[in-house]
Amino acid sequence: MRELLALRYEIVSADADLYVINACTVTSLAERKARQTVHRLRWEAPAAKIIVIGCVGDAVANGLSQLEQADLLAGNVWKTRIDEVVDRALAGETGLLPSAPPEPMKKERISGQSGRIRAFLKVQDGCDFACTFCRTTQVRGPSRSKSVEAIVDEACGLVANGYPEIVLTGINLAQFAPPAGDLASLSEKLLRVDGLLRLRLASINPYGIDEQLVTVFSSSERACPHFHIPLQSGDDDVLRAMARGYTRAFFSSRVELIRRTIPQATFGADIVVGFPGESDAAFAETLAMIQEVRFANLHLFRYSPRAGTIAARARNQVPETVKRERAEGAERAFRTIQRDLFSSYVGTSVNVLLEEETGDGGWRGYTRGYVDMQVHTTVSHDPGDEVAVRVISAEDGYLLGDE
Ligand code: SF4
Repeated sequence: MRELLALRYEIVSADADLYVINACTVTSLAERKARQTVHRLRWEAPAAKIIVIGCVGDAVANGLSQLEQADLLAGNVWKTRIDEVVDRALAGETGLLPSAPPEPMKKERISGQSGRIRAFLKVQDGCDFACTFCRTTQVRGPSRSKSVEAIVDEACGLVANGYPEIVLTGINLAQFAPPAGDLASLSEKLLRVDGLLRLRLASINPYGIDEQLVTVFSSSERACPHFHIPLQSGDDDVLRAMARGYTRAFFSSRVELIRRTIPQATFGADIVVGFPGESDAAFAETLAMIQEVRFANLHLFRYSPRAGTIAARARNQVPETVKRERAEGAERAFRTIQRDLFSSYVGTSVNVLLEEETGDGGWRGYTRGYVDMQVHTTVSHDPGDEVAVRVISAEDGYLLGDE
């Protein structure tokens, strides 16, 4: 988008005539942040035009959200026509641009980035599932996938532009189904891209993990052995009420498959506590899964109802105090496990992709298993160098090491 707009508009860091906010409605936190940003900009720059684009626009169109302070609202399909949206806003158009059915995925120049190290390559959009807490299906449309050729082409471009690491992303990556191929064969092709140092999968639901995919990820040093698998709950009744499409046993079987094939693999997850109907016993099942899988990282959420979802209408909502207690309990259990896991790395050697200098002669980066590392070194480096590091201690949420 930046490149597209820069062809006709100047991008400035302050006092802009127009602001474009790319906003998501999938979590209440994301939507709240978008709302706060619009509110702040409206106050700081009352004369500026504010465009909000993304699935918040679709949520407004479906009557699921409101965002009165923006001048122009546009759903996801407008992202590929951002120039036109900007022209319309500058010409004084206000309100909501008409929604349209989701388009097939096309090649994008770049899907996202984190500094100059990690590029996020979106290979799939939409979702055919209908988890009872989620609005995605209502705002992002059915699952669709980019073609393997387009993805490989895009990946080559990213590597040529200096990105050593590519992360494959999607709304539901497990539903990646291009006209020809699958996630395993795509990964195999990407691992052969000249100059690529690391290939990573973003969050992937358990039903997207099969023997072929795990085998491909065990076959190359470039394939990062870290699997972020949204668990959401360790209890079968809660999983059923969420309509997640898998059981606790199936989740465990995927972890087992990965561990058997890639013993050094690490795991991350999203967990929601306090989903409607979650009993003390059901929450205990989630705690047991945290112990069983030994997650290296965890995104822990307290359930918050999203208007327009089935779960928001459930009568058996869990009181906020109970949600808070459970979130704290799950966080404590996870921290204990993480400390224990990280301590097991002390004395070993790991490869770290350096991302940024810390200012005290050190560097920060990530291991292939997606563990955050602080590195002491006397050697001069550039971002994107991959170095062997000896782990000297496990800290709270990260490792310390010497090159
Ligand atoms: S799998 Fe469920 S939570 Fe994920 S996007 Fe689809 S409906 Fe939402």
